Amino acid sequence: MEQPTLPQEPQHEYETAVYVYQSNVDEDVLLTGLDQTYLLLANKIYILGSDYEPASLSTLTCATNGGKTVELETRTAQALYEMLQEMEADGVSDLAVTSGYRSYSYQVSLNNYYLNLEASGISADAYRHFGAAYIKTNYTDKGLSALSAKDAEAVVRSYSAEPGKSEHQTGLCIDFVTSTAGLTEAFENTEAFAWLSENAYKFGFILRYPKGKEGVTGYTYEPWHYRFVGREAATDIYYRGLTLEEYLGASQT
Ligand SMILES: [Zn+2]
Repeated sequence: MEQPTLPQEPQHEYETAVYVYQSNVDEDVLLTGLDQTYLLLANKIYILGSDYEPASLSTLTCATNGGKTVELETRTAQALYEMLQEMEADGVSDLAVTSGYRSYSYQVSLNNYYLNLEASGISADAYRHFGAAYIKTNYTDKGLSALSAKDAEAVVRSYSAEPGKSEHQTGLCIDFVTSTAGLTEAFENTEAFAWLSENAYKFGFILRYPKGKEGVTGYTYEPWHYRFVGREAATDIYYRGLTLEEYLGASQT
């Protein structure tokens, strides 16, 4: 068995990039140096404690899905604001935030809600997860119309992180939606995604779960999920085509 590798000192080999803006961007909020606060790794291996919460939280003033209240770590919220101002100055405005900071206790209640939901019947997600043959043999043929607790949990794990294992508890990441795309792969066909792919790193954000890196991040491709790491690290990660795990020398494989 391979020994777990210690996180390495991040390297800085990227060329000096020039950032040109159309709006009045406050550069200071994008620069964090390599502050560990913004390089915090939270995934299925590096699990956050139930008492972890961001040092300071701010309520977003930008567009949110259905006008709901979304909170983020304060500097992350400021950097997001700067990024969205620039995006709008570039003529892209169809984008809203649907999720930011989620507390541990919220994740616990969400998890319980999903477990109860899946155990109360056989959902489309259950069919997708187990396949029709499994459902027929183990449930419908036996006259059962609801999943067992064990199977319900397996289905929930396929679409929702266990409490402590969601990056949203850090307050450093957001999920975006547009008027045409929710939290599905279709998000990659939006104008906003094209803009983010080219520009997010300039504002300190990275695409957290890229396509083809599932074995490294532990998550399937999520074109809508962006993570703030600060301008320096984001630029490095962008130019070197890395994930946060690889950047920190903490791959899960
Ligand atoms: Zn997310």
